[in-house]
Amino acid sequence: MTREEMIWDLSQLVESINPASIQKKLDSMVDEAEKIRDTYHGKIGNLDAKDLLELLEMKDAYTLKFEGAVMYCYLMYSADSTDDVAKQLNDAARKAYMKVSQALAFIDIELGKLLAEKPSLVTNPVLVEYKHYLERTLRKVPYMLSETEERLIIVKDKNGIDAWQMLQSDWLSTRTFDIEIEGETKTLPYGKIVGLYQSPNRDLRKRSNQIVYESLGKDELIWASAIRAVCEDHLQMSELRKYPTPIIQSLIANDVDRQTIDSLMNTIEKNVGLYQRYLRLKAKMMGLDKLANYDIVAPLPNTPEMDYAWKESRKEVVDAYMGFDEEMGGWVDEMFERRHIDGEVRKGKSSGAFCASWLAGKSAYVLQSFNRKMGNVYTQAHELGHAVHAYLSSRAQKPSNCEVGSCIAETGSIFGELLLTEQLLSKAKTKEEKQAILTCVLDEFGMAAFQVSARVFFEQSMYDSIKRGEFLDGETVAKSWVAARDKIYGDSVDWLNVMKWEWTMKPHYYMANYRFYNYPYVFAQLFVFALYQLYKEQGDGFVHKLKRLLAAGSSKSPRELGAKLGFNITDETFWEKGMAQAKQFIDMLEENL
Ligand SMILES: [Zn+2]
Repeated sequence: MTREEMIWDLSQLVESINPASIQKKLDSMVDEAEKIRDTYHGKIGNLDAKDLLELLEMKDAYTLKFEGAVMYCYLMYSADSTDDVAKQLNDAARKAYMKVSQALAFIDIELGKLLAEKPSLVTNPVLVEYKHYLERTLRKVPYMLSETEERLIIVKDKNGIDAWQMLQSDWLSTRTFDIEIEGETKTLPYGKIVGLYQSPNRDLRKRSNQIVYESLGKDELIWASAIRAVCEDHLQMSELRKYPTPIIQSLIANDVDRQTIDSLMNTIEKNVGLYQRYLRLKAKMMGLDKLANYDIVAPLPNTPEMDYAWKESRKEVVDAYMGFDEEMGGWVDEMFERRHIDGEVRKGKSSGAFCASWLAGKSAYVLQSFNRKMGNVYTQAHELGHAVHAYLSSRAQKPSNCEVGSCIAETGSIFGELLLTEQLLSKAKTKEEKQAILTCVLDEFGMAAFQVSARVFFEQSMYDSIKRGEFLDGETVAKSWVAARDKIYGDSVDWLNVMKWEWTMKPHYYMANYRFYNYPYVFAQLFVFALYQLYKEQGDGFVHKLKRLLAAGSSKSPRELGAKLGFNITDETFWEKGMAQAKQFIDMLEENL
């Protein structure tokens, strides 16, 4: 294997990789945005259907024209933030992007007003390809404030909520923790000590949790002030914007409705016993009477060491998709062949993994740090599922219809993980191997579907507390957290007392305009498990249905996408299908104990 195979080729994104020519492209991106502003500012209110189509198509063409240059800058920087050219281009792209957003911000505001006055435009046949895009815009209109008010809110958030978030993030990134490892006291930053939560050494897992949460708990005064301010602010803003309930803003942003989310969360509540059954099985596999909180996602003690070379991983992942559909498998292979994946481990590379859609190229780019572990093969299958989603939607949809919301965005990726699971299971020779694969899938399912649900219940209980007139001090918030957590875990897990401070470290709780961000993870996980169950029931007949769903991009709401599959996602029957799939994996695990 040559080193190049693991390094992406970004040159395909631009006509020339000469930094001066990329800068020129960014400059002309800003110029063109200003021209669009000159042409349309103050005039959108007078457009008829044909004119509006022209504007939307022009906006899409504009996106495609400059997408490559902007991506080139961002991706180059994410691959190596220590590179001087990358730093400079990333900065230039960010500045250009900010100018463009400012110049074009009027479009949404004016378009909203136009649609409020002439709602029939949404269903005008001339605009059929933009129907759902316009529906989504229209749904926001009743809650928009005046331009002056909106600008004041941006300033208020910048110096208010954003400051709480920054404080929380600075706290986490500047604290150090002393911990003894193999007889030696080490001083670790937060980013490093959390890595010990997954250590095979149980005592180390316990101590690292104890040390971190004890320290977070000592500053409960700060976290309580922060979360109180964030929640109170949200309630007051909801009133000002006339949102009927605090969750509405999030429902609109995620293109879903109350009934769907209620039936999703009811299904979770009804099935906590299934998750607890898995946790008890895991305790058994670990030789414990009961799991402690630091064992929930810990590796199994006798996991066989599995090692994958880049080529082997490629083969596993391509075969997994190929087994489902040849066209999809072909695209996954093309991602490797055209070198659209950056897998090399290097200093300065951004941590984690992501997939960036490249609409103009009808393809995508994937970044990961490949360490030859089974988890890395899963990450590859996951990110390439996002890529397949991009291949399908960019071929079928206008760019405006490729802004897939978080409930649906994980469909290709999680589905791909399940395809890989099936393939790895079919090849596994020992029951230890099977256990390792199944716990990998079920740990993730448990976290995304159930642990995250505790956070959904917790957030709702914060607003309920405020409405009841309670004062949210640290202990009151901690009590709410523990109640939400226990609703999920029952008595299946022993918790360190300091875990009552677990809510303090979630950055999202402190972000402006990010309320109720949790249920989309639950949705995504259970949605895909339900789809996988349908695939098992319908076999090859299901393949084109999944492809059609992915190809729809954001041109349809999740509810409409469900209806196309013959399901009403506001009904618990659909979500129970996802649980049935989880139960099958748990049964399989029990058979392999
Ligand atoms: Zn993902």
